[in-house]
Amino acid sequence: MNIHEYQAKDILKKYGVSIQEGIVADNPEKAVEAAKQLHAETGTDWYVVKAQIHAGGRGKGGGVKLAKSLDDVKELSDQILGMQLVTHQTGPEGKEVHKVLITQDVYYPGESEPKEYYLGILLDRAKGCNVIMASTEGGMDIEEVAEKTPEKIIKEWVDPGIGLQGFQARKIAFALGLEGAAFKDMVKFIYALYNAYESTDASLFEINPVLKTSDNRIIAVDAKVNLDDNALFRHKDLAELRDITEEDPLEVEAGKSGLNYVKLDGNVGCMVNGAGLAMATMDIIKLSGGEPANFLDVGGGANAKTVEAGFRIILKDPNVKAILINIFGGIVRCDRVASGVVEAYKNIGSIDVPIIVRLQGTNAEEGAKIIEESGLKVSSAIVLKDAAQKVKEVLE
Ligand code: GDP
Ligand code: MN
Repeated sequence: MNIHEYQAKDILKKYGVSIQEGIVADNPEKAVEAAKQLHAETGTDWYVVKAQIHAGGRGKGGGVKLAKSLDDVKELSDQILGMQLVTHQTGPEGKEVHKVLITQDVYYPGESEPKEYYLGILLDRAKGCNVIMASTEGGMDIEEVAEKTPEKIIKEWVDPGIGLQGFQARKIAFALGLEGAAFKDMVKFIYALYNAYESTDASLFEINPVLKTSDNRIIAVDAKVNLDDNALFRHKDLAELRDITEEDPLEVEAGKSGLNYVKLDGNVGCMVNGAGLAMATMDIIKLSGGEPANFLDVGGGANAKTVEAGFRIILKDPNVKAILINIFGGIVRCDRVASGVVEAYKNIGSIDVPIIVRLQGTNAEEGAKIIEESGLKVSSAIVLKDAAQKVKEVLE
């Protein structure tokens, strides 16, 4: 689950990670109030207005602006709130901004130049442990740094049995070229950040940039946090941070029916039981010349209700030209799924796209018979190869 920058910063603060202070607002008047409060608390006279959407690259897209007065705060908030912000992570349609984070300006002048760094913590699946990544090339697109100058990314793996060791945090701070107060502060920062990451069962923490201020303090200016969905049951407070307006509406609807649905760009809708079979089905669709319109796993206990919910979700996608239902009857019997398909088909009324049903496993023959005898525009194919052939035919 992704969360907003302001929510991520709240978490960081709770775990003792220094942050650029800010207050969230959903209209320009509240934004000005927020700025006044920040002035009172931090003494800042300049502010930053930051669009809160679940995507990075906001700065380049015009979603992060420096305000040098309260009037600026009002004007910029008015401009950013409600805008359709396009960044390299939103897709061309962009995302509507509902909230802005008003922050203190932390790039103030002083004894040294402010300097941006990158810090990330994530799970290294190949090594089976967390990895801390750091770079002096902060504020930039880290994917580009990784591609062009991989030597500029420092990696430190954390043994899960021992946890983060003091020397590791010092090694990172040293490799970033820090010294004195900034060095000590960075060590503290890395420690607190790692603790926050572990304690929240996160799968990604990305702080880009981490800033060394002109007075040598280390603070998080941005925060991208991804929490592990499978651990949310033990973090009720974090589960509440979910913002469904940021998610694909079809995926949200599917979640309510207990379906695992991921929208894709193709033209063949698929409904499958089991994630592995769903992957194989998508391969078959590609081999037969189509492109999957979605990944949909209806789970092991598919029944008429889940089939109907799946149908309705697939049909809401205007790109769908055919639907392939691929069910292996293991726990669920094929005749029951077939009845479910026929029932759902009748309930929904008008389905214009051809449906190919492939049922294999327990009671497959009975299932195919129900489909054939239903008189509906549904073709059955017991073997996957036949199913692929039928998909090909209807696409032609
Ligand atoms: P992103 O573009 O979505 O990654 O948003 P960030 O939170 O990383 O902000 C983008 C950029 O805005 C940063 O890299 C900074 O250059 C700039 N920025 C952020 N906070 C401040 C600030 O307090 N003062 C100034 N002058 N610039 C800031
Ligand atoms: Mn950033």
